[in-house]
Amino acid sequence: MNNGTMIIIGAGAAGLIAAITNARAGQKITLLEQNTKIGKKILVSGNGKCNIDNKYISINHFHSQNPPFIEEVFKGYDFKVVEKFFTSIGLELVEGKEGKMFPMSLQASTVVDLLEYEALRAGVHILCDCAVTGIGKSDNVFTLETTQGDKKCQQLVLAAGSPAAPHLGGSNSGYAFATKMGHALIPRHPSLVQLCSDAIWVKSCAGVKVAGVAKLYANGEYITEQKGDLLFTNYGISGLAILDLSREVSTRLASFDYCELSLDLMPELSKEKLTNLLQSRVQQTSEKPVALWLQGVMNKKLIPIILEQSKCKVRTEDALNRKEINKLVHTIKNLKLSVNDTKGFKGAEVSTGGVDTTEVNPNNMESKLVPNLFFAGEILDVDGDRGGFNFHFAWVTALRVNDN
Ligand SMILES: Cc1cc2nc3c(=O)[nH]c(=O)nc-3n(C[C@H](O)[C@H](O)[C@H](O)COP(=O)(O)OP(=O)(O)OC[C@H]3O[C@@H](n4cnc5c(N)ncnc54)[C@H](O)[C@@H]3O)c2cc1C
Repeated sequence: MNNGTMIIIGAGAAGLIAAITNARAGQKITLLEQNTKIGKKILVSGNGKCNIDNKYISINHFHSQNPPFIEEVFKGYDFKVVEKFFTSIGLELVEGKEGKMFPMSLQASTVVDLLEYEALRAGVHILCDCAVTGIGKSDNVFTLETTQGDKKCQQLVLAAGSPAAPHLGGSNSGYAFATKMGHALIPRHPSLVQLCSDAIWVKSCAGVKVAGVAKLYANGEYITEQKGDLLFTNYGISGLAILDLSREVSTRLASFDYCELSLDLMPELSKEKLTNLLQSRVQQTSEKPVALWLQGVMNKKLIPIILEQSKCKVRTEDALNRKEINKLVHTIKNLKLSVNDTKGFKGAEVSTGGVDTTEVNPNNMESKLVPNLFFAGEILDVDGDRGGFNFHFAWVTALRVNDN
């Protein structure tokens, strides 16, 4: 064993940056990755464009059982610090909507290529196809069992991420190593994930996307709402508004709450405006079927469910009266969809929960229980909203690893 050797488990967002910064500081670093290549989640992030950070970092975009930890971690580590790091490896960033930042190439693979080049240039020894299967510590030395033999080090960084997206390397092993070292875990649930419903009608609307609002009710009580795309699928519902709502749904389903969504399919039109619009379209002499008449204002796949949920009694346009129109308007703006599950960690972008941050020093990410054990990234009990916030936490915690 080389004295002063640091091993980092996981060559994802956090592991790569922790490796580069510590190697630049003169440390001997070995980076172990179970996948055949590094940075798999970075490669697919932001639909291949990599939403690398957000210009407007605020604690309100992050979730944890210990918010003061996040505040401490972010002190002096805002977006500018992350941008400076990426400039130092030769990557320029550009701004998209709502402060979202992207590599100027709009290509996630350029981020991984430049991180890999810089890691190798700084002397990091990267070992892919090397899964760590067990860890232990005695006499101030960590011993790792791996698929490429046992390895020893004086400092160990757990940057093994969460179980989200197992096809990209998501796994529970980082948690197992943390608990082996005596750390507590905060309950983990899938987040930024699609939602499942056993309502049969959604299948018939699969593929329909509307710009709407989804309101979440748990046990009949209004909880919160999100605006954005709603995409009906053959298992339930997806779309940006749903991903943004999913953290709350996931946590509530885990507590056995009954979850129901109320979907506003036309949020740009107030109830009054929609009523007036529909009323003005009724021709008293037309015998056009109501279902066909509604095709003038909405996707036809949604119409049978609107007619069914509204309990519309009339069949032809000439029979539509104010009462029937009110029922249609109410349903278009409050379409009910029960939710019984999420797509789980397989569909999730991140996991809630993780290593309890009350046991971690926010200044250098060192364990308060085990000297020379460090944590970085999603393994910790912090998850962010969509918009580059999850990467921000991964980059910043990595920059802090072993920082004196
Ligand atoms: C599809 C998708 C899109 C996303 N898009 C965005 C986005 O645009 N913006 C954003 O901010 N966030 C995005 N995220 C979230 C973001 O990717 C994660 O929050 C971030 O990658 C976490 O970094 P990490 O280094 O902690 O974990 P990871 O990037 O998951 O890295 C952990 C690494 O550890 C390895 N590993 C695990 N166990 C072992 C073991 N036992 N031995 C060896 N290696 C191991 C894994 O293979 C993995 O490579 C996205 C996530 C997904 C799934």
